[in-house]
Amino acid sequence: MRLKFLVVTLGLLLGAALLSAQARKTLDIYVVDVEGGNATLFVTPAGESVLIDAGNGGAAAARDAARIFDAVKDAGITQIDHHITTHWHGDHFGGLEELAKLVPIRAYYDHGDTVQPQPASTEFLQKVYPQLVARARRVIVKPGDRIPLKGVDWRIVASGGQVLQTNLPGAGQRNPYCANFKLQDPDPTENAQSVGSFITFGKFRVAHPGDLTWNKEGELMCPNNRLGTVDLLIVGHHGQPVSNSEVIVHALRPRVSIMNNGTRKGGQPPAMQIILNSPGLEDVWQSHFSLLSGTEYTVPGMFIGNTFDDEPEALPKSAWTPPPQGQQAPPAPAHNGKAFWFKVSAQQDGTFSVVNTRNNFTKTYRAGE
Ligand SMILES: [Zn+2]
Repeated sequence: MRLKFLVVTLGLLLGAALLSAQARKTLDIYVVDVEGGNATLFVTPAGESVLIDAGNGGAAAARDAARIFDAVKDAGITQIDHHITTHWHGDHFGGLEELAKLVPIRAYYDHGDTVQPQPASTEFLQKVYPQLVARARRVIVKPGDRIPLKGVDWRIVASGGQVLQTNLPGAGQRNPYCANFKLQDPDPTENAQSVGSFITFGKFRVAHPGDLTWNKEGELMCPNNRLGTVDLLIVGHHGQPVSNSEVIVHALRPRVSIMNNGTRKGGQPPAMQIILNSPGLEDVWQSHFSLLSGTEYTVPGMFIGNTFDDEPEALPKSAWTPPPQGQQAPPAPAHNGKAFWFKVSAQQDGTFSVVNTRNNFTKTYRAGE
């Protein structure tokens, strides 16, 4: 009797999984909370998948890989077809080795070798990555390259310090925000090497610039806007102000921005001002409340994906200023308990919805409104 029940239940579950795979009509995007790292999973209507980055390394690697794997299971996929590592910083490649133990990864894309060798990235690139790509394939991408997908156009717009030199279809207009653009100090780090993606599904368009920094944003977006506009911007560099200049944020005119910030990473007031001041913006969703924004520069709680492990009764109004370099800072508020992703479901006509899986608050953004 019990066995029969089990068989029937398994059969129903399998049937439901098959049905959902067959019936998928949306491009689904999971912005997984990896505590101020990046892990963004795209699943196309054909069931193909692209994961951009795999969260943090070290002690957090197993935690972040498990969080990504939860999203993989939720999407009903059994492998990752394409994995993009935006750059060789630990909050982007750190969980990759652990993740590859949980789910097969068929192809790896990156910008080439690191320009900023650090012990963890050198170890990974010399010892771990060759083993992973030996079981799959590795593609070093350059601007203009495509990730091959059915029904979705995936274009690389930045990689290895180079940016797209041609205009995407319909783009190329003069970018008015370039007039007031001021360069920051040159960025010799891996951030400036980030692989940036521009994804088009019917009328729905998304940009994911990785951790591309300010001056590269200028190279990509000035004097002409080579990308055009988007419905959704996955905010660059966790919402830090060394990225997120007006030349990219305002020129892309996102209806919605989703920020993969941490409890004390990203969301500083100067970046929040530019992001919230963006023309045509309807909402910003944040993976966390950031102490660096304080409530003054954050969004309503419904739009925040995760809390702290020890949630205080009241959150600080003022932005927290870290102590000068070299002085001891108290640890960032931890979040190692249950984590919640944002799930975006987009239709061909440009209509899309965002779900905050912590509170199930859902908002739909209709095409043409
Ligand atoms: Zn990062």
